[in-house]
Amino acid sequence: MEKENLKAPQSGISPFSKEHDMFRETVRSFLAKEITPHVDEWEEKEIFPRWVWERMGEMGFFGLRYPEEFGGSNLDYWYTVVLVEELAKIGCGGLGMGLTVHMNMATPALARHGSYELKKKFLEPAIKGKAVSAIAVTEPGAGSDVAAIQTRAQRQGDHYVINGRKMFITNGTQADFVTTLVKTDVAKGHHGFTLIIVPTNTPGFSVGRKLKKLGNRSSDTAELIYDNVTVPVTNRIGEEGKGFKYQMEQFQDERLSACISTSSGAYATYERTKEYAKTRIVFGRPISGFQVNQFKFAEMLTQITAMKAFVYHCCHRFVNGEDITKDVSLCKIFSGQASQFVVDTCLQLHGGYGYMDEYKVSRAYRDNRLFRIGAGSDEVMKEIVAKMEGLSGKEGPRESHQRRVDESIVKPTSPLP
Ligand SMILES: Cc1cc2nc3c(=O)[nH]c(=O)nc-3n(C[C@H](O)[C@H](O)[C@H](O)COP(=O)(O)OP(=O)(O)OC[C@H]3O[C@@H](n4cnc5c(N)ncnc54)[C@H](O)[C@@H]3O)c2cc1C
Repeated sequence: MEKENLKAPQSGISPFSKEHDMFRETVRSFLAKEITPHVDEWEEKEIFPRWVWERMGEMGFFGLRYPEEFGGSNLDYWYTVVLVEELAKIGCGGLGMGLTVHMNMATPALARHGSYELKKKFLEPAIKGKAVSAIAVTEPGAGSDVAAIQTRAQRQGDHYVINGRKMFITNGTQADFVTTLVKTDVAKGHHGFTLIIVPTNTPGFSVGRKLKKLGNRSSDTAELIYDNVTVPVTNRIGEEGKGFKYQMEQFQDERLSACISTSSGAYATYERTKEYAKTRIVFGRPISGFQVNQFKFAEMLTQITAMKAFVYHCCHRFVNGEDITKDVSLCKIFSGQASQFVVDTCLQLHGGYGYMDEYKVSRAYRDNRLFRIGAGSDEVMKEIVAKMEGLSGKEGPRESHQRRVDESIVKPTSPLP
C-alpha cells in the first residue's frame, strides 16, 4: 500500500510557501546556534546584550517588512509571522518581547508616516540593528486610558520641549531612540496628540529606574523621565495632532505581533510538556498513560488550534489591508485565556519540577501572564469590542446605536474562519 503523505500541503489553508518554510529553517538554526545557548544567562542579568541587536540586523530580521531604501527586504508579512513564531518557541519570552517591540511596536508608525529624512535617520539604523528603539505611551498615571497621558510637548520655534514621565517602557534602559506619545494641544482632545522621536542622548532625558518583574526578565523595563527635552520639529512623525490616530494604528501591529507570539509560545510549551509526560513515571506508568492527562493534552491542543486559526485569520485580514481592530481585540482576549490555560496545565503536568526555574515551563508560566495586561489589557480589549458593537452608550443618540447594530447584523465585518 502506498505510504500516506501526512504533511500539510503547501496550498490550502497553510499561509506559508516553500520560501517561508526555508526562511523558518534559517531562523531556527540561527536561534539554536547563536541565541538559545545564552538565554539563561540573560534571564539572570535581566537584559540581553547589544550584539544580539547587531546580529539580528545583520541577518536582515528587523527589516523583513520594511522598504529596501531603508535597508529592509520588503517581504510579505508572513515572513514576520515566521520570525515572531520562532522567537516565541525558544522558551524565553523576554528576548522575543524586546525584539518584537523594536520591530513591530516602536517603528511601524515611523515607517508609515515619518518623513524620508526621519526614516533615514532612525528607521534605517533600527533595521540594521545599529539603533535600539522603544515605544513610550504608558505613564505612571495613565495606562489603559491612553487619552489621559500628561506628557506635554510645547512648540518653541523649530523645536518641541518635552516634559513628563513614561512607565513600564520595554528596552527603556538601552534604547537609542524612543517613539514618544505626547500631548501638543490639550484643548483639542484626541486631535491634540503627537508622536515624536526622542533620541535618548538628548539632554534632559534620563532613565528613572530599571524595574524588576515577575516574568520576561531578559527584557529590560524602565521608567523614563523627560525634563525639558528639546528636539527639532523634524523629529515629529507625520502631522502634529495625528499622534493618537497613528498610535491606535500602531497598536494593531503590536497586538497582532503579541498574539502571534503567544499562540506559538503556548504551542512550544505544549510540545515540551508532551515529551516530559511520556518519560516521567508515576505509579509505574508515564504520566501520559493516564486517560485524565491524555484528555488534558486534547483540551490544550483544541485551544491551541483555535488560537492559531484565529491568529492567522487576523494576519490574512492585516495582509489584505483591512481594519483588524475588532478581530485582533477578540483574538487577544481569546488567546489570553487559551494560552493561560495551556501554560497552567503544562506546569501542573510537570508537578514540582514545573515550579523550578530550571524548567522552561516555569518561565513560560511567568512570561505568559503579561499577555493579558500589556498591549492593552483584557478589559480594554473588551471595551473596544463593546464599543465597536455599539454597546458602550458613548456613540450618540439612541437611533445611531440602533443603526450600527442593524448594520452589523446585515453586513458582518469580521467573518471567522
Ligand atoms: C512588562 C511590561 C512591559 C510594558 N511595555 C510597555 C512599552 O514598551 N511601552 C508602553 O507604552 N507601555 C508598556 N507597558 C504598559 C502596558 O501597556 C500597561 O501596563 C497596560 O496598558 C495597562 O495599563 P496600567 O498598567 O496602567 O493599568 P491600569 O490602566 O491602571 O489598569 C488597571 C486594571 O484596570 C483595568 N481596567 C482598565 N480600564 C478598565 C475599564 N474600562 N473597565 C474595567 N477595567 C478596566 C485594567 O484592565 C487593569 O486590569 C508594559 C507593561 C508591562 C507590565
